Parts: sequence; C-alpha cells; structure tokens
Amino acid sequence: MGLVVQKYGGSSVADAEGIKRVAKRIVEAKQNGNQVVAVVSAMGDTTDELIDLAEQVSPMPAGRELDMLLTAGERISMALLAMAIKKLGHEAQSFTGSQAGVITDSVHNKARIIDVTPGRIKTSVDEGNIAIVAGFQGVSQDTKDITTLGRGGSDTTAVALAAALDADVCEIYTDVDGVFTADPRVVTKARKIDWISFEDMLELAASGSKVLLHRCVEYARRYNIPIHVRSSFSGLQGTWVSSEPVVQKTQQQGEKQVEQALISGVAHDTSEAKVTVVGVPDKPGEAAAIFRTIADAELNIDMVVQNVSAASTGLTDISFTLPKTDGRKAIDALEKNRAGIGFDSLRYDDQIGKISLVGAGMKTNPGVTADFFSALSDAGVNIELISTSEIRISVVTRADDVPEAVRAVHSAFGLDSDSDEAVVYGGTGR
Ligand code: ADP
Ligand code: ASP
Ligand code: MG
Repeated sequence: MGLVVQKYGGSSVADAEGIKRVAKRIVEAKQNGNQVVAVVSAMGDTTDELIDLAEQVSPMPAGRELDMLLTAGERISMALLAMAIKKLGHEAQSFTGSQAGVITDSVHNKARIIDVTPGRIKTSVDEGNIAIVAGFQGVSQDTKDITTLGRGGSDTTAVALAAALDADVCEIYTDVDGVFTADPRVVTKARKIDWISFEDMLELAASGSKVLLHRCVEYARRYNIPIHVRSSFSGLQGTWVSSEPVVQKTQQQGEKQVEQALISGVAHDTSEAKVTVVGVPDKPGEAAAIFRTIADAELNIDMVVQNVSAASTGLTDISFTLPKTDGRKAIDALEKNRAGIGFDSLRYDDQIGKISLVGAGMKTNPGVTADFFSALSDAGVNIELISTSEIRISVVTRADDVPEAVRAVHSAFGLDSDSDEAVVYGGTGR
C-alpha cells in the first residue's frame, strides 16, 4: 500500500460543491489502495478577506493575532472536507497544523518549518482514516504560539508532510492543468510543461509563478520529493517536478524520455515595490548601512541597483525591490536610521512589475539575452532594472506593461502553443 499526500488549493474548495468534488477525488485515491493525507487551503479568497478585515480593525495588526485569525480559514475547510468524506461513507479526521506536528520558528506571518513530527497523522491513516490537514500553519517551537508560513504556504505544508511521512508522491491540485510556460491567465497560448527540473521550477517560483511556492520547491528538492501539479477539476496528467526527467508513454513511439527544455517559461510578478534611497554619499559602507537596516527589520529584498553618482555632488541613488507587503516597514526602518545612513529622501513606487525568462539552456546559448531585450523593445516596453542568474533574466518595468511584455517574450521564444490547452477552471486570480 502506498501513501500519497494531496494538496487542494483555495480555488478547488471555494464552495460546498467544490468541497464535495474534492472529497470524491480523495476517496478515489483511497479506493485505489492508498493511504491518503490531504492538505487543504482556506476556501476561495478567505485568507485575503480575513486580512482585509484585520486591516479595517488595525492598519498594522500584531503578527501573533493575525496568524491566529488566518489559521481559522484552513480550519473551516478541513472540517468541512472531513464531513464531506464521512458523508461518502469513509472515515476521515481533520487536524490543525499544530496537531499534525508542523513545528516552526517563531517569525509570525512567514514562519519556517523546522521539524515535522506527524505521529498523529501516521496513527490516523494506519487506523484506516483519511487524514485532512490544515495547510499554511504550524506551531512555534519556542513560544508555542500558532504561526503561518506566508502566503501560498499550504504547498509547503504538503511537501513537508510528504517528506516526513516518506510518501510516494506529493500531488498539488489547483485550478489549472499543471505548470505552464506562462501564467494561463495572461497568456492564453501558454503550453503545459510535462516535466520540469527542481532548478527551473525554483527560479519560476521565485520569479512569481505562484502555481508553486518557492519554499515548497526548495523543500522538495532538499528531500527529493517528486511533485505532481495537476487540476482538481480535470482528470488530466499534470506537470512533474523532479530531479530526473519522467518517462512518458506515447502512442507512436512507445515510451519516450521527456527532454529538458532550453527555455522553461516566462514568469511575472506585480507584488513588489521599488524603494529608492536618494542622495546617498558615494563612499564605501553606504550600501552596507542601508541593507543592514533592512536586514535588521527582518525584510528580504530582491533586486538592487546603484546609479552612477553625479560628479558635482558626490551623491548617488540606490534602488531596491521588495514585496509590497514589506514596503511600509522598509520605509519606516530607513527613516528611523536616516541620520546613521545619511541620505536626502526616500521614494516609494508600487506601480512596478517584473518579467523573468527562465531556462537552463541560457547557460549555453549566448543569444538569449539579446533576444529577450529585442522582444521587449519591439513591444515598446521600457526597462527600469535588470538582474540575472545563470538560468534567469529578470527586468522591472511599469506594472501596466507586464501583460503585453509577457506575451511578447513568450512568442519571441517560440513558446506559444497551437492548441488552446491553457484552461483556467476556477479561482479569481487574486
Ligand atoms: P491554489 O489556490 O490552488 O493554491 P494558486 O492561485 O496559488 O492556486 O496558483 C494557481 C494559479 O497560478 C493559476 O490559476 C495561475 O493563474 C497561476 N500561475 C502563475 N504562473 C503559472 C504558471 N507558469 N503555470 C500555471 N499557473 C500559473
Ligand atoms: N490560504 C493561504 C493563502 O491564501 C495559504 C494557501 O492557500 O496556500 O495564502
Ligand atoms: Mg497556491
């Protein structure tokens, strides 16, 4: 008997009908002879609605209380799902993250999993139950307070449980048929990817492809857990994310190994903002002082650029990007340390977007960068910041330009599909 961990995202359990459909799917996996652990997200946009509600009460709610509030979303769906499964005549038990043994550090709103002790889950499935686990949450080892893992964190819960339970596979069920060469909500001609390496998926996720969370892919790579991303609305094969290419059965040739694509896809992200520190003395130690301030506030930054200093003033500007949700904290921290750092003013711009091209083939193909910039210039898109890794090029543009730029780059790299395979089954894209 195998053990499968399945994760159902918010769009898959958006309403009572969705919960009943998912319950059937889970029961099918059990009837196929597996032990099943199902991780579930909050229904639909519940988490966003709870955040909105908290902000109406307090603009900067305390992290501990916000976590307490948000974890309620997953509690609702886990209990309803267990009820729906029982209605189908099967035994199910629901567990909070803490009951499931998800132990984290104590950083509220973006805690890291440091251990998983799934004793109760193991006992539950060994007794013949289907175990339903609330995603996105855990309990701090030090403070014993309830924590959340950051937006989209149920993906990480699923992979962490799969690793701790030594599951055969971790299936991530969502509202599209798998990982596509671009977000199907933006590129209708996006193509489904059959297999993608952990490395390329990590870059796509880090660049904003929210179909899988970056931390979840990181975890899966560390413990070598293959992930199957697929739709809970269709019966189609999805995308395999693993270290080794999968073997596919085709009608014409029998079995064939799926090849690593030169370019895996185009990702976009409009969740970041740009902070510019204006009038910084152009001398050693200034950048260190700025980014020490940001690090001490426990904020992560993404891109950094320093402008050429004006010879007459000896002053320069330093810009960086970070999640919009951290924008306020970054500005406050820098303002507080203005005298220590020494700068004239701060500028905050949340109307930016990032477009990234990802693919291992970039390492060996010198023309990729040139083609990427040509595609953007042909689409009339102005570039504000650039950053690269071995297998990724990213640019920052105006947020309004993002959809057009993504489509232009997708076409330029020959990623457009001839068929209309990019179906979006549900969700609001929020
Ligand atoms: P869930 O609620 O199941 O966790 P998410 O909304 O977090 O679902 O993730 C699924 C969404 O990710 C899709 O609806 C799609 O709009 C978006 N997405 C972004 N990039 C991609 C991509 N490359 N492939 C597939 N989906 C993508
Ligand atoms: N409900 C949480 C969120 O919306 C976690 C998740 O869906 O993965 O971010
Ligand atoms: Mg998600």
